[in-house]
This record gives sequence, structure tokens and C-alpha cells, in this order.
Amino acid sequence: MKKKNKFQVFCVIGKSGSGKGTQVELLKKKFKDVFHIVLGDLLRAFIKQDNRIARTVGAKMNKGELAPDWLADYLWQKEFMKRAGKVRFVIFEGNPRTIKQAEELEDFCKTVFNSLPLAVYLNISDSEAKRRLLIRLICKKCKKPVPYKMLAQNPKKCPFCGGPLEKRKDDGAKAILKRLVWFRTEVLPTLKYFKKQGRLVQVNGEQDVPEVFNELWAKLSKKLRF
Ligand SMILES: [Zn+2]
Repeated sequence: MKKKNKFQVFCVIGKSGSGKGTQVELLKKKFKDVFHIVLGDLLRAFIKQDNRIARTVGAKMNKGELAPDWLADYLWQKEFMKRAGKVRFVIFEGNPRTIKQAEELEDFCKTVFNSLPLAVYLNISDSEAKRRLLIRLICKKCKKPVPYKMLAQNPKKCPFCGGPLEKRKDDGAKAILKRLVWFRTEVLPTLKYFKKQGRLVQVNGEQDVPEVFNELWAKLSKKLRF
């Protein structure tokens, strides 16, 4: 008899603006004991600290450069250690971003969970990513982006919590272009790496939110071994 996997780690990956946060929220509803790690949030919180490493990395990130592997690994591992013992499912939003990070994560999952991570790629074109990011507004309080469909009404407050809205510091045109370049040079090879091992689900991220999730869940649930 095939041994059932007790634990599963998912990585939801896509360009900025591909709707990762929204899809992760929907995915979380499918599982009971799950926790969710957003690498971008961990990195942004890290660079707000007042020390030399934070300032150096922060200056690079605000220009749209990729944070170093060691920092990304350090931050998610720290978060993971705090909570991993208590849950069966972990969702990573926005990482791994490099093959090196993927290998690190796999090694970790093998040891701790005796299973390998599955990756979901929310695919949108560069032009769609640019279009979405240039108009994107984020809530200062709950950090959620305003859904794109609501932006046309020129919202002044967060539709989820009423908090004030702002543009993200790294959502300038130049930084967006840089992020698209590293997506191509670093993240796409990482996705290919997952694909080679049959652990990638690719979804058309340019559809409406419910359609994206339908496609995601239909494909992902086939790969789950529960
Ligand atoms: Zn909010």
C-alpha cells in the first residue's frame, strides 16, 4: 500500500501583480491546519529595521533588485521554525525565487516533512504585470492590495479593513522592469526545475479570480496524494 503523505508544502509563484495573495487566501480555505508565509512581507519588514544589513539590502530592493538567497532562506526558515511543528500544510507565497532557494526548501521539506514541495505558477504576461502594478494600491494596515476591479472607482480606503492606501515603494516603473528581468532570469528556471520533476502546476493568471482558482484547484488536487 502506498504510504500517505502527512504533510505538504505549496509554493505559489508568479510575477508581482499575478494575484498570488488572492489565490493563496482561496487555497487556504481548502485546508484546516495551514500556515502561510509571504516572503515579500518578511523582506519588507526586515528592511525597515535600523541596521546596516537592512539598509544595504533595502536600498537594493527598492530599486527592484532581488534580495540575496541567504536572507530569503534565513527569513522563511525563522518563520517556519516558529510554527511548522503545529501544522500539516504550509503555503509559501512568492518563493523560492532561485534554484538555490528551491534546493534549500526541498532539503528542509524532506527532513522535516518527508515530502517534497509542489509549485503553482500563476502565469501573466509582462505587459499585464506592468499594467496591474502601475495602478496597484496597497493597504497600509492589512497590507492587502485593492482588487483591480475596484480601482476604477478610485477608492480612498481599504475595502477590507478601512485602512489608508498607498503605492508600494518598489512599484515605480523602473523597479517593475527590473523585477520582470529577474523573474525571467531567476524565477523561470526555478519553475522549469519544478516542472522537470513533475511538481509544477501552471495556471493562466489573466482570467477572473474565480476562474483562476478553479483551474488552480483542478490541477493541483490531482497532484495531491491524500
Ligand atoms: Zn486593509
